Amino acid sequence: MNAQDRRLPRAADFDAEELLAGIVSWVEMETPSERPDLIDRLLDHVEARFTGLPVSMRRIPGRDGCGGQLVLTYAPGGLNGKPALLMGHIDTVWAAGTLAQRPVRREGDRVFGPGIYDMKAGSYLAAESLRRIAAAGLVPPRPIVVFLNSDEEIGSGTSRETIEELSGGAAFVMVPEPAFEAPGTVVTMRKGWGRFTLKAFGRSSHAGGNLSDGRSAIREIARHILDIEGLTEKEPHATFNVGTVKGGTRPNVVPAEAVIEIDMRADDLATANRLVTTILARRPYDPDIRLEVTGGINRPPFERSPAVARMYAATVDLARELDLPMAETRRGGVSDGNFSAALGLPVIDGLGCNGGGAHAIDEHILVSTIAPRAALFHGMLMSRDFQDKVVAE
Ligand SMILES: [Zn+2]
Repeated sequence: MNAQDRRLPRAADFDAEELLAGIVSWVEMETPSERPDLIDRLLDHVEARFTGLPVSMRRIPGRDGCGGQLVLTYAPGGLNGKPALLMGHIDTVWAAGTLAQRPVRREGDRVFGPGIYDMKAGSYLAAESLRRIAAAGLVPPRPIVVFLNSDEEIGSGTSRETIEELSGGAAFVMVPEPAFEAPGTVVTMRKGWGRFTLKAFGRSSHAGGNLSDGRSAIREIARHILDIEGLTEKEPHATFNVGTVKGGTRPNVVPAEAVIEIDMRADDLATANRLVTTILARRPYDPDIRLEVTGGINRPPFERSPAVARMYAATVDLARELDLPMAETRRGGVSDGNFSAALGLPVIDGLGCNGGGAHAIDEHILVSTIAPRAALFHGMLMSRDFQDKVVAE
């Protein structure tokens, strides 16, 4: 441990109530993904907190109906080297007006609010960690970059390019998405996500008068539903869900069209690629029916690569020094960390606060998990020992 590391603050050195007030200020500014005006209002609020500090701010204007994004960079004295990158989203799944029905409220250790757990608490802590380090004039081992995007909940279509650009130039990536399981747990593996649409085109006819002239698209689709869902049992490293089914017009008409939407989750890229080929190659059972299959991988798997394992081992060591609990887990849900991990970067995800109810009306965080995460973020950003272990340069 070097001299700088010996001065790393512990959880008790952080005022959880003060941090909570900052988190709540973000929650009280609603930011549904589809409201660029509200997203930009929160980004203005964030930028104002950095006025006068030696932090560069790059605002990426919104497009395609999405809000803007913000890149904060702290590189004191022209500090060189690949930066530590923190990535969080500020959009939520909650429509404007939700807050009026369900204002922020506290019950003991739990603070409820739309978007507080997924993931305003984590994104706030990321930006605030950078702000405090800059405000104190501390010199970290490498530059710190915080990227706040605004379209994660709808697939990160307008931010993926920036995510990959920033990740590609980073030394390691921290993703403060919600934490799961016991306090202290982080995420070191996420499944990849694929989506497909399968359409069947048959031929309509009168169900009473000339049934045999028809070719039922629903009957065809039904067989594919069973085949595709059956893959979940056959494939140990993937799952399938047919989430929607539509077709037909009325009971006395043989249905000419039917369509299903399929969700695929896969542990590793090899499995994901193989199954994409399998799904896209589906052929009709009935030669008189035409099938149209589209789709593919939306987010590549976040595998527990050697780089991720190395960063986790370093995080365990750092947590021990800081007297913080630490454990790892894997998730079926995806995050923007999937993009970074797929580039081969060291990534630790699930660094946000504990709580529950993501995308649900009981969404909340545990106040007792704020200060430990603040201490961990500060340590990861400021400890040279930690960073030397993570980055094999
Ligand atoms: Zn999230």
